[in-house]
Amino acid sequence: MTTVVSDISINQSSNDKLSIQTGPDTWYNNYPIFSSGKRQSPIDIGTEYVDYDSSLSPIKINYKPEKHLHIVNTGLSVRADIKETSEISGGPLEGKYRLEQFHFHWGSNSNKGSEHTLNGYTYASELHLVHWNKGKYSSFAEAADKSDGLAVLGFFIKEGHEHKELRKLTDGIQRIFDKDALTKIPDKFDPKHILPSDLSNYWTYDGSLTTPPFYESVQWIVFADMIEMSPEQLNLLRCMRSCSCEGKYIIDNYRCPLPLGERKLRSSFRMLGGVLIDLLREAESITYTLVSRHQYSSPRLKISYTSHLGTELNVHVLILEKCLGDTIRTMVHAPGVTSFQLPMERDNRQST
Ligand SMILES: [Zn+2]
Repeated sequence: MTTVVSDISINQSSNDKLSIQTGPDTWYNNYPIFSSGKRQSPIDIGTEYVDYDSSLSPIKINYKPEKHLHIVNTGLSVRADIKETSEISGGPLEGKYRLEQFHFHWGSNSNKGSEHTLNGYTYASELHLVHWNKGKYSSFAEAADKSDGLAVLGFFIKEGHEHKELRKLTDGIQRIFDKDALTKIPDKFDPKHILPSDLSNYWTYDGSLTTPPFYESVQWIVFADMIEMSPEQLNLLRCMRSCSCEGKYIIDNYRCPLPLGERKLRSSFRMLGGVLIDLLREAESITYTLVSRHQYSSPRLKISYTSHLGTELNVHVLILEKCLGDTIRTMVHAPGVTSFQLPMERDNRQST
């Protein structure tokens, strides 16, 4: 029979231990691998531990539009099941991996929700696109527990602008607030349109499912380029219920980071030392401190600024080397602040 285990469906002869009623509190007892595993996920992507690997090519996406995307409230997340033959290849992957489903993790507010963290920083949500190794295995169920069986693309989601393609999905969520409810999205839905345009910057490591049964079968590929969703869209996720009763909402459905251990965490891009700044033109005042300036560790800046609204924000900035002519791009880790580009000639400005 097919047992739906939160966001993953796996064929099981016994579903006692895999009941969807089994919550995080019981995982420790029911799944020894939960605490004894050597390649469990998620992890904190501590960029000081990242090894740049120049052989990591961009991920090739060959997704097809779904005529009617099917989405279901699993009681622990919203899962979209893929019918078309959509595939990825490249990067750390050997051969082609087929897209099976995608789902989300989120918090009760936008200060938390992602499973992976970036230098300890959490995001409002995280999207997981789950693929299986179609070159070696005949189905998702067969691949799910093999060490090279799965590949998951992970994207951090921060609160910001409305995401147009995901609007179709978040509209559909309003029809599946109850657990086990499912619906079809009437318009054509293209999973490719969910993703950022640049898929060349990512981190990758050997990991596991982050929900039962925690199989250590996942090649994780977590992207530096992020997705935005509006506060309204994120709130619709938080309106889903973990039962068909009132009051029990699906929130904080993320697992906390586990130790990297002996594993390698590789990146497809090199961090750049040196730095910036007089950005955030709309800000009333800015002070900034260069936190680290080291060729192979992440250059991090802590910026404090006061916006027109009088809100004080602390912003952490990671500087990524980009082969984009004379610009480097930075990622700003703060809700409501968008990415920006800086001219390279400002690279060596002194911080104050
Ligand atoms: Zn997930």
